[in-house]
Amino acid sequence: MKKILISALLLNLASITAFTLKTEISFRLGTKTCIAKYKENTASIATLLSLHDNENTAIDAFNGLPKDTSFNLFEIHQNNVRTLTCNVNNKNYEFDPNRIFSDSGIDSTLKKYNTGVTKFPKAVITQIKAFSTDLLKAYNERKQNKYTISIHNNTNEGALSLTDYIKPNKYHQEAKAVFTAEGKDLDDFFLVTELNDFNYFKGLNENVVLQSENPTDDGSLSVYCAKNKIPYINIEAENDHKEEQKGMLKIVYGLLKIR
Ligand SMILES: [Zn+2]
Repeated sequence: MKKILISALLLNLASITAFTLKTEISFRLGTKTCIAKYKENTASIATLLSLHDNENTAIDAFNGLPKDTSFNLFEIHQNNVRTLTCNVNNKNYEFDPNRIFSDSGIDSTLKKYNTGVTKFPKAVITQIKAFSTDLLKAYNERKQNKYTISIHNNTNEGALSLTDYIKPNKYHQEAKAVFTAEGKDLDDFFLVTELNDFNYFKGLNENVVLQSENPTDDGSLSVYCAKNKIPYINIEAENDHKEEQKGMLKIVYGLLKIR
């Protein structure tokens, strides 16, 4: 009896050490806050960053991964929508968290999501800038290799797809190269900043965009990473393409093992 109890205790202890550690990091946005939920797996190879709170297929894909494909997850959470809200002087200001990594990006995203506002209080800009710095610092402290890796989802109707990067479409000047994989949905694709990685995904018949070396500065993380010579991978899949995105995560895991 005693022996069983001890082994049960040991088993419990083992599962605590082998399992996921969950922590929350809080960021100030004026009088509001937003949270980063951080899940750490002991055997993890890299930390995935989820900036858009409503893109949950990517989170489901992460949660559905087998134990031998282990990542950490750094997930921004506030209201379950794409944008975040900063409150200053009893007023709400919305912005896209993937447009805050440059001054011009912050300016444009505020204008886009707060129509009718002609002048933004200085405190709003200061708060968002500070959030951007603190967010990158918190993520960088938790990433395990040189790569910054984002996970995103898009919708079938409009939003982002591989075709946007192909001439003469809207983002074609943002891509140095595009590879369209046979038999793959155009909404499921990788975006990378390094040629080596582009060739890796292309070699595995995956849709992939190599970002231009001088992309338009829209304040997005991919542009920030290109400017700062940080290798970047975006794993972008259509909403509800959980199995596809799981497959894409496994491919990135394979890439990281040899980098
Ligand atoms: Zn997104």
